[in-house]
Amino acid sequence: RSAQSPAPIRALPDTLISQIAAGEVVERPASALRELLDNALDAGSTRITVRIAQGGLDMLSVEDDGCGIPPDELPLALARHATSKIASLADLEQAQSLGFRGEALASMAAVAEVEIVSRRRGQPGARISAANGRLGEVAPAAAAPGTLITLRRLFHEIPARRSFLKSAATEAGWCIEVFKRAAIAHPQVAWSLWQDGRAGMQLGPDSSPLGLQRLADVLGKSFAEHALPVDARIGPLAVRGLVCRPTAARARAEVQQCFVNRRWVRDRVLAHAVRAAYADVLHGALQPQYALLVELPPERVDVNVHPAKSEVRFRESQAVHQAVFHAVQRALAPALAGRVAEASA
Ligand code: ADP
Ligand code: MG
Repeated sequence: RSAQSPAPIRALPDTLISQIAAGEVVERPASALRELLDNALDAGSTRITVRIAQGGLDMLSVEDDGCGIPPDELPLALARHATSKIASLADLEQAQSLGFRGEALASMAAVAEVEIVSRRRGQPGARISAANGRLGEVAPAAAAPGTLITLRRLFHEIPARRSFLKSAATEAGWCIEVFKRAAIAHPQVAWSLWQDGRAGMQLGPDSSPLGLQRLADVLGKSFAEHALPVDARIGPLAVRGLVCRPTAARARAEVQQCFVNRRWVRDRVLAHAVRAAYADVLHGALQPQYALLVELPPERVDVNVHPAKSEVRFRESQAVHQAVFHAVQRALAPALAGRVAEASA
């Protein structure tokens, strides 16, 4: 068509809308996994099992023991903008759940094959499947209480999107990173990872007093051995985690992880506050290694900034900066004291 006779304006069919929107939510297996883990966590699960085959390109599944989905709600779970988590703008501002947009499963169903098998306690189990925007029928199924969601052939029918996927090994690496972040943020949950049929990380619930054992388990011995605990409460803010001794700083930022209200985030305010706390003890281009979990009342942080929710906006970022700065500085004090003693010896 030429510019002189443009096509008439049309409303797009729902499937196409979902396929377009899916790009924002499901970019690759790891982003699908993150959404499935958010759902399992929002369902109040105590045990979550992740299985990936070929980096999630062949198959990706999340099994949980959470609240389950009643049979008659299964089609809605896969519908766009359908959610059980918020019902109003007021709810959105108070949202404690990881999800609330009601588009993750619909997006996956638009660009892959999705099967849900679920059972709510006291109700019969059921299954539903959907493939590339076509929804199947709800059928009875035997199932333990909880939910199993399986994703297959991501972007199989959308070559333009598939071409952006990397090798199975690379995609697997990103999936494992997502798994680790969720495991750190939710130490009370037992986690299990299976990769191409082989057992990966198996983590029992963390019952250590500060809940920092999980951090050590996930980030590894060499990190934990050189780390100092952070445990501070400053006004309405709580800051917990592990920060490396200045002597364990590295040239590369290998471990620099921040979590806000049990969500992994990328945030300049937090990163800057940590750096500032190390300013006197770290020279040159050395990178501090740390993992910090910040908790604050939900109304003090906006998580609805980006569909992937990996960015947040603090209502009073100066107060957050100060709290994190002081918490880390206090944690580093023992290492500093050692240095002063060394210097004056
Ligand atoms: P959102 O999480 O934003 O609500 P989703 O598309 O991720 O949107 O999920 C839609 C709905 O399906 C959820 O609101 C929830 O009611 C239900 N659901 C999805 N996954 C699970 C699960 N693992 N356990 C229980 N309910 C689930
Ligand atoms: Mg969700």
